[in-house]
Parts: sequence; C-alpha cells; structure tokens
Amino acid sequence: MGGAAIPGFGGELIEPGHESYDEARRVFNGTIDRRPARILRCTRPDDIRGALAFAVDAGGPLAVRGGGHSVAGHSMCDGGTVIDLSHLREVAVDSERRVARAQPGARWRDLDRVAGAAGLATPGGVVSDTGIAGFTLGGGVGWLSRRYGLACDNLVGASLALPGGEQIHTSEDVEPEILWGLRGGGGNFGVVTSFEYALHPVRSVTAGLAAYRAADAQAVIAHYDAVMADADDSLASILDFATAADGSGDQLVTILGCCCETGDAAAARVQRLVEVPGAAPPATSMARELRYPVWQQLLDHTAPSGRLNYWKTAFLREMTPEAMETICRLGRDRPSRDARVHVIRLGGQPSCVAPGATAFATRYDPYIVHLITAWSDPAETESCKAWTRRAHDALEPFAGRGVYLNFIGEEGSDPVRASFGDASYARLEQLKARLDPDNRLALNQNILPAAPAPV
Ligand SMILES: Cc1cc2nc3c(=O)[nH]c(=O)nc-3n(C[C@H](O)[C@H](O)[C@H](O)COP(=O)(O)OP(=O)(O)OC[C@H]3O[C@@H](n4cnc5c(N)ncnc54)[C@H](O)[C@@H]3O)c2cc1C
Repeated sequence: MGGAAIPGFGGELIEPGHESYDEARRVFNGTIDRRPARILRCTRPDDIRGALAFAVDAGGPLAVRGGGHSVAGHSMCDGGTVIDLSHLREVAVDSERRVARAQPGARWRDLDRVAGAAGLATPGGVVSDTGIAGFTLGGGVGWLSRRYGLACDNLVGASLALPGGEQIHTSEDVEPEILWGLRGGGGNFGVVTSFEYALHPVRSVTAGLAAYRAADAQAVIAHYDAVMADADDSLASILDFATAADGSGDQLVTILGCCCETGDAAAARVQRLVEVPGAAPPATSMARELRYPVWQQLLDHTAPSGRLNYWKTAFLREMTPEAMETICRLGRDRPSRDARVHVIRLGGQPSCVAPGATAFATRYDPYIVHLITAWSDPAETESCKAWTRRAHDALEPFAGRGVYLNFIGEEGSDPVRASFGDASYARLEQLKARLDPDNRLALNQNILPAAPAPV
C-alpha cells in the first residue's frame, strides 16, 4: 500500500517487511524494541493532519515521534501507528523579531545552526541530536537556561493538529491556555506541527571543563556547590561522574561550565568554577570562547544512539554534606563504563517564573541529579537496572517534590501527578478533555482527560 492511499498523507508508509522498517522503528534507547503495524513518515508538514486522522480511525496504539530520544520509548509502539516527524527538520529565523520557527522533527543542532548564523540562540539540549519537540513540551533545561529560561518558557507559539481533525494555533494572545499547557504538559494535547521560539543574542559563549580524579570527588562537589551558590545567572554548570573515554578506565569527576557571555569577566567566572583548590591537577582541562553551536555539540559523543539505557532522576532540595557524600558514592559505584551521574545546577531565570504560570512546575529546587545508566551488553541489563533503582532510593532523603519527567522511563501516573501538583494537574485534565477527550495521545507522561461534568 503506498502513502497515496491515505487521504491527506503524501509521505512514506513503512510496514513490516519494508526495507526501512527496522531503521524506522529504532529509537535512541536500545532497550526499546517495538514493532508497530505501520510507520507514517511525514515528508511535508501537511502530511501530519492526514496521518493523525488515519491513525485515529485505525484505532490501536498511537505514537508520535519527534527526535526519538524519549528514554521511556514513548515515540514507538507495539502494533498500531507511529506518526514519524523525524524528516521534518527545517528551521527559519526572523532576526528582526528574534523568533525561530521550527518543524517538529528538528534536532537542537538544526535550530542552533540556523539561529547561530544570525548570532541568536534559545535554550536547547546539551546533546545536539536531541529532538526539540519532546524536549520543549516536557520543559527543557540547557546551557542557556539559567539566563534565558527553560525551552518551554521560550516557546511563544505553536500550531497543532488535534485528534478530532482540527488545526489550531496558540500563542500568548490566541488560545493562551493551550500555550500554558504546552509549556511542560508534554505531547498530550495534539501533534505540534510547528514550534516558535523566542531568540536571544548569543553568538559565542565562554566554556570550560576540568576533569578530576574520583578520589577528589568530595572536594570537587563542595567547591562546585560553593561557587554556584552565588554564581551569576549567565553561568550554567554540570558535574559529571564518568569513566575516562581514553580506555584507561580512570574514574573522573568533571566540572563543566558555560557562561553565555564573553570577555574577561566571563572567563574569570568559568575559571573560578572549574579550578578546585586543593585537588590534584585535573587530568584534562580547557576554558575558552567558542561559538555556541560548537559548544552545544561537545557532549554528543557521550550519548550515542542505540546503547541500552535506564534512567532515573531526583531534584535535590539542598546540597547538604550527606547529599554530597551520597552523590560521590553513587558516582564512584556506577554499574558500567558508560553509566554517568550528572548533577545539574538549576536556579536562575526558570526559578523566577511564578508558580502556576506554566504547566511545568518543578523549577524551584537548586539541583537535578540525573542517573544516566547506559550499557551495551544485554547480560548487564538486570544489574544496571537494579543499581539505578537502589541509587534512586539512596537519593530519596534529599529529594524534592516530583521528578523531571523528561528524564524518566515508564513509571506510571504517580510521578506525573506529583510533578505538576494538584492545581496544575486539574487544569491540564480540563485542557486534555477539550483537545483529546478520548486520550488518543497516550504515549507520553500521560494526563487523563477530566471526566465530563454531570448533566
Ligand atoms: C542523549 C539525551 C540528551 C538529553 N539532554 C537533555 C538536556 O540537556 N536537557 C533536557 O531537559 N532534557 C534532555 N534530554 C531529555 C529529552 O528532553 C527527552 O528525551 C525528550 O523527550 C526528547 O525529545 P524528542 O523529540 O527527541 O523525543 P521523542 O521520543 O520523539 O518524543 C518524546 C515525547 O514527546 C512526544 N512528541 C514528540 N514530538 C511531538 C509533537 N510534534 N507533538 C506532540 N508530541 C510530540 C512524543 O510522543 C513523546 O511522548 C536528553 C535525552 C537524551 C536521550
């Protein structure tokens, strides 16, 4: 059956047996091995509406694929239909209005490249292959976030195809409730056919890193916390526990810093962050001015597509000495060479947004700890998963409310509800009931439609 047989859909229909079927059903997380009945690969934005109408009529599971990086595997289904947007990657920038319009299959590197050519940027992911779509709809924290907000805070407009067949646009002036929901409420409301982002003047950044031996981890994390406690919002940072990439097997703890300004003051901020007094000299270090899109690709090699992944995460209420000790222990005990523990500093602009102003609610804790367990040998699957669960339990005494939903696997409805909080969850249920009353878009951090009011 060719794509032309589906009304309003001129893209590629990929079914079992098609030469592209196995490539088209692969997603970032290699533990996800699902076999949809069909993949509707959209090749023009107009295909999306036809694909959605077909999928709704066909019944069965329905997945929407943007960049395919959901570790939960939400962009692939067993049986049913996948609407594959991954070939729709165009980005256009209006430099005068400082707005980027992006197709829904764009990756951060697509947007960074086009916006970067105009000396502009918006907060995006630290691995440039990640899709803008799921990332933005679920919140989105990156190197520019402490200064310019989360990706969802910079979403100023979007167009959606709804399961009922309508096409709708939202902005702060038109259908603002939908924009409110898209700012953190995930892919629950419709298939976003176009994203519009506010852009900021960022041509180059001052970036640095220093990789210390794990034996110095306590000193490194204490220094990291002390410097970030009074850091300017222009400075973003990640602490990365990992095994050296040079094959030596060395256990490293690396401070990565990025200041979205240039010049001597920016260099001094980064230098102060990455230089740990009293620690042995770092195994590797660098600090320099770089084009923002170049820095954005620096961590790409740490997360190749296809590895087996199992992730958990917790917000930290406070970096107490006990929390530091626990994190250092987890950083040391990681269960595989490719597993990492990240401690991402939050605060800054996202934490200044009023509660309830966006659906995204988990913005006020100072850190996220991200247990990025990755491995290659299926024989290690159970031990890697078990370690990650234990590590997550160990963080529980220090954990804030809810979790960052973009960093978790399939964990059911409790974390979803807890992360939005009761008032925002109730508002999201109402929006869901209006836009997707039959919950056809259920492969996401799912919000159930509010029950119809009794007549
Ligand atoms: C290597 C890696 C690095 C990451 N780095 C960061 C980081 O720096 N900061 C951060 O905050 N997060 C990060 N993440 C998490 C990331 O935000 C999520 O994995 C996100 O879901 C990726 O979006 P995607 O479009 O690639 O995902 P997909 O798997 O394609 O989709 C994720 C969800 O969004 C829905 N969706 C996708 N497109 C649409 C659409 N057009 N309309 C409606 N719903 C849609 C899907 O149905 C699914 O439910 C990272 C993830 C990975 C794997």
